[in-house]
Amino acid sequence: MPLHAELHRHLGGAVAPRIFWRFLHRQNHPLATQFPVYEEFEAFLTQPRASLVEFLELHTMVEQVQTLDNLQYFISKLVRGAYVFEGILYLELRYTPYYRTDTAETQSRRIEQMAQIITTIASAASMPDYPVVLKQILCMHSCLPLEVNKAIVELATMQREHVCGVDLAGPDFLYRNRLSELVGLFEVARENGLKTTCHLFETSNGFYPEFLPYLNRIGHGIQVALERPDLLVEIAKRQQCLEVCPTSYLKTGTLPDLTSLRQVFHNCERAGVDIAICTDNPGLHNVRLPFEFENLLSLDIIDFEQLKRCQVAAYRHAFAWPHNEPPDSIVRDIINKQAGTMTGPDEKPKSSCHLQ
Ligand SMILES: [Zn+2]
Repeated sequence: MPLHAELHRHLGGAVAPRIFWRFLHRQNHPLATQFPVYEEFEAFLTQPRASLVEFLELHTMVEQVQTLDNLQYFISKLVRGAYVFEGILYLELRYTPYYRTDTAETQSRRIEQMAQIITTIASAASMPDYPVVLKQILCMHSCLPLEVNKAIVELATMQREHVCGVDLAGPDFLYRNRLSELVGLFEVARENGLKTTCHLFETSNGFYPEFLPYLNRIGHGIQVALERPDLLVEIAKRQQCLEVCPTSYLKTGTLPDLTSLRQVFHNCERAGVDIAICTDNPGLHNVRLPFEFENLLSLDIIDFEQLKRCQVAAYRHAFAWPHNEPPDSIVRDIINKQAGTMTGPDEKPKSSCHLQ
């Protein structure tokens, strides 16, 4: 029964290595010749990188394959896998639409093509047998010029049916020289009524508190809890949620191991800051959402009560979950209703007998 909400997952990192490898070989893609053996491909994709910048090069490799013509294939596999193997019911999928457009075209033509990317993803994600509620987060990117990032915010504003928010991704050291420009884009997004999240306080390069007043959620944010716990007070007041993606920090070389996350969970809980546990790139990491949960439990970083609170927080901070409560409340209703039915139409429930 799918019950989980996933708030931080990149399209470029979400495709399972085997599905990606098979696709390359069926299409006779040039990358296929580099990796004739699947196991070598999987090892290449999932090995830890020395830095976030090095890790992001993998996304560039995937993006060149996830073009408009191929999106239907990748999205349908991704939704099916999320539903069947991960128990995901609500998924916010993020990507930079500009990087899925035709690289042979001019910048203005590529900006025009972005709308088509959104509708193609939305229609591919609509699968009656795998009814995941999938909403899109459009990522601005620190490598893209202002004009393109501005167009991404405008597009998100116009495509409310499919898009639930905006984000900023890309190497975080590049934020520094464009800080007022990038913060200004978030200001515009909020003025337009968009929900916002931003890759922030992920690495030691990502300390930019200037963004915080304009965000609903913080993409990662682990360094706040570790290095700037003083900021947690304001974050709690603004009811901002951290999107913590444990395996990511090992794959990008941000943390040597996951033990310091214990402090992240502890400090956030003490300050009243919610955490949603997410995957970031389950395909490139080869770790699906239930295993992120299980890893944290096995390593004694959180207990089951904390896990439950994080799972409920994911629904509370979801940008487009259409109900007041998480889906397990519906399951409880079904079970209670069934228990009532089993007593038979003329019989009174046993508890009523005691009351008479
Ligand atoms: Zn991310």
